[in-house]
Amino acid sequence: MNLKKDVCVIGGGVMGLATAYYLLKAGKTVAILEKGEVGSGASSSCDDMILLQSKKPGIALTLAMESLEMYRQLPDELGADIGFLTLGGMVIIEDEKQLKIMEDFVKQQVSYGLDVEIVGRDILFKKQPHVAKYMIASTYSPSDSQVNPLLLMRALLYNGLNMGMDVFRNTPVQEIKQLSDHWIARGKNDVSVECDNIVIAAGAWSAQIGELLGIDIPIRPIKGQIAITEQIAPIGETNCWTAAYIASKHDPSIMPDRSDYDKEIGLGFSFSRASEGNYLIGSTRENAGFDKTTNFKAIARILEQTRQYFPIMNQVNIIRTIAGFRPGTKDGSPIIGHIDDFPGLFIAAGHEGDGVALSPITGKIVAEMVCGVGEHKRIEELNLRRFSSN
Ligand SMILES: Cc1cc2nc3c(=O)[nH]c(=O)nc-3n(C[C@H](O)[C@H](O)[C@H](O)COP(=O)(O)OP(=O)(O)OC[C@H]3O[C@@H](n4cnc5c(N)ncnc54)[C@H](O)[C@@H]3O)c2cc1C
Repeated sequence: MNLKKDVCVIGGGVMGLATAYYLLKAGKTVAILEKGEVGSGASSSCDDMILLQSKKPGIALTLAMESLEMYRQLPDELGADIGFLTLGGMVIIEDEKQLKIMEDFVKQQVSYGLDVEIVGRDILFKKQPHVAKYMIASTYSPSDSQVNPLLLMRALLYNGLNMGMDVFRNTPVQEIKQLSDHWIARGKNDVSVECDNIVIAAGAWSAQIGELLGIDIPIRPIKGQIAITEQIAPIGETNCWTAAYIASKHDPSIMPDRSDYDKEIGLGFSFSRASEGNYLIGSTRENAGFDKTTNFKAIARILEQTRQYFPIMNQVNIIRTIAGFRPGTKDGSPIIGHIDDFPGLFIAAGHEGDGVALSPITGKIVAEMVCGVGEHKRIEELNLRRFSSN
C-alpha cells in the first residue's frame, strides 16, 4: 500500500502518538508506522508518574512543569479519562548525608519555580503514617502528579483516528529514502509512506532507525523492572521516592553504600498508587540490552527495600511484574528537534525515565517545529548535534 501524507511518524508509543496528535491538530496529515502493537514499547511497561521533583533543574524541569499544565487540560481536550491525578510527592530521606544533598537539590528546583520544600518528621509521618520510623525528613511537593499511560495512549489514538490519522501496526520501518524534496518510509508488508517530514519516535530502538539513514543516534535501552500489587486502600497521602532514587538518576556516586548487585542493577525506589488502587513499585536501571524478562533476584531486591521503607506492604500481594526499556542517552536528556543536514527529518526520543511526563510538551514542540511555527531556541541544547563532537 502506498500513501501520501505530510508527516510519517515512526513509532507508536506515547511520544509518537502525542506528536501525531499535535501535528493533526495543526492541520497536518499523518501516518504512524509501528513495529508491533501500538503502545507495545516502554510506554506500556512503565510507572505512571508526572514527577517534577526528579527533574534536573534546567530545561528538563521547565519542560516538565509546562507538560504538567498541559496534562491538566488533556482529559477535557481528549474527552477521556486518562487517569490524571495530583496526589503530590515526597522524597523520603534516610540520613544526614542525603538530607544535605536534597536541601541543595530542592533549593535549585525552587529557583526554577517548583513548589517543593523539605519537611520534618511530623509532616512526613502525618502524610505517610506507614513509612519506616527511622526516616529523618522528606521533601514534599503538592504538584507531583500521575497519569495512566495506557488510557493516555488510547485517548491519543482515538482522537488521532478521528482526525484522519492512519496507523500501521506490525509494520517495522525497514527502509527510508531521501528524495530531492520529500521522503519515502517503507515498512514491512509493502507499506510505503511518501511524506514531506519524518519524525523518529522509536524510543529505545531509535538508534536502529538512525542506522537506516547512516545517522548515529546514541540512544540505548535502560531496562527497568517493576512489581505491581493488588488493588488496596491508600496507605499514605502521596507517592514516594527515596533520595537514593533521585541520586541514581543524576549521580550514582552519591548513593548510599550498596551491595555490588544493587549497583549492577541500578536499584532505586519508587512507590506510586495507580488510579485503580494498585501500587507500582520500582525499579531497576539495567544495562541488559533488549532482554524483557523480569527475574526473581532483582524483583526480590525491589520487594525487600519496599518492606524496609514501608513495612506494612509485607501484607500485600504482588500480582504482576513487568520490564521495559527506557530510551537512554549519554547525558540523561532527551533528543528533540530537527536533524542537521536532513531537511524534513525530526526526532522525539531518548526521554529515559521521563517520557510519559514529557510527552505532551515534546509532541507540541516537535509539531510546531515541523510546521515551522513558534520559537524554539531553548530546545537547541536538546538537539542531536550535541553528541556529534563526542
Ligand atoms: C520501569 C520504567 C518506569 C518508568 N516510569 C516512568 C514514569 O513514572 N514517568 C515517566 O514519565 N516515564 C517513565 N518511564 C519512561 C517512559 O516509559 C518512556 O520514557 C516512554 O514510554 C518512552 O516513550 P516512547 O514513545 O519514546 O518509546 P516507546 O514507548 O518504547 O515507543 C517506541 C515505539 O517504537 C516502535 N518501534 C521500534 N522500532 C521500530 C521500527 N523499526 N519501525 C516502527 N516502529 C518501531 C516500538 O515498537 C515502540 O512501540 C519509565 C520507564 C520504565 C522502563
